[in-house]
Amino acid sequence: MLEILKQSNNPELCLPLVDAVIAKAKEFYFKFGRKPAFMEVCGSHTMALARTGVKQKLKEHVNLISGPGCPVCVTDQRSIDAMIALSEGANRIICTFGDMMRVPGSNRTLLDEKIAGKDIRVVYSPTDTIQIAEANPDKEVIFLGIGFETTIPIFTLMAGEAIQRGISNFSIWMATKLVEPILRYLLETGEVNLDGFMLPGHVSIVLGEDSYHYLVDEYRISGVITGFESAELLSGIYKLIDLAIKEKPAILNNYRSIVTKSGNLVIRQWMDQYLTESDEAWRGIGTISKSGLDLKPEYDQFNAKKRFAVTIGEPKKTKCRCGEVIRGLISPEECPLFAKACSPMKPVGPCMVSTEGSCAAHYQYMRESF
Ligand code: SF4
Repeated sequence: MLEILKQSNNPELCLPLVDAVIAKAKEFYFKFGRKPAFMEVCGSHTMALARTGVKQKLKEHVNLISGPGCPVCVTDQRSIDAMIALSEGANRIICTFGDMMRVPGSNRTLLDEKIAGKDIRVVYSPTDTIQIAEANPDKEVIFLGIGFETTIPIFTLMAGEAIQRGISNFSIWMATKLVEPILRYLLETGEVNLDGFMLPGHVSIVLGEDSYHYLVDEYRISGVITGFESAELLSGIYKLIDLAIKEKPAILNNYRSIVTKSGNLVIRQWMDQYLTESDEAWRGIGTISKSGLDLKPEYDQFNAKKRFAVTIGEPKKTKCRCGEVIRGLISPEECPLFAKACSPMKPVGPCMVSTEGSCAAHYQYMRESF
């Protein structure tokens, strides 16, 4: 494991930082009699913590818990079921991100449907969907829009471009998610005891440092915005432990090169023009009020939920425990299917499908260390 850290972006900095974090964690243990516990709420952090070896190196001293930050993992079964139902209509093309193809719906995946002959296409950029719609004027082209605040602005760009180019055979099935409602959900349910959050780097570019003060003001818990390199992760963890020891919650920005205090106001104004809050279903959690964004009624022509009548049943119960994994209640290894019936080659749940999923990260980098 040390070898991974030695190969990381700055070994001269990282190795002393590991020692400093461990010393700080021991200080925490001396004061509170337990390990500090922090949750990352960004799929890229989940993968970075595993890939760099930071999580494995600190596991005896710091409890690093993966939260609901992977957009593929939190997408509800019903969104997949809806896209499968939509693909059954005549003259339909379904477009989606590559990871979504293998995510199980209630009975089948989009990949199963594609193999069965449905026109389901992977797009590398969501805006490619507009070109597909333009090239197929006799077909309805429907995009499955998943993602957090980093990705959501792209969907508004798609609607804007469709208006500009006079394209009317394109729509989005919005299944987007917002960070604040899920953090509030986690804190209000109290299911998992945390001493702070490692806050997402990319989402914070849009939201800005100031958007997280409710964590301190209402919940008395700290957050540190951090980047994705080993040194950034380690220094973020160090600062979280330090804040927890001092019992003075605060929001710190450890990613100032990218994240500003107020975020990207232009993008947020653009989002406000097109989008409105919506109740969204999270996989394994259920519907959380105002936890996503949907197109405003004036853009109903691009809203697949308004344009097409689709009946979707309740999500099917499975043995997959992704719902507990993304809430930080169990680690992937505690799922009985992990690395047995469920692997990246044959995933049973989205946390094993996604390149940012906690189960995939554990399978790829941590099977021997836990
Ligand atoms: Fe679901 Fe597989 Fe993860 Fe278990 S190991 S929680 S079945 S994705």
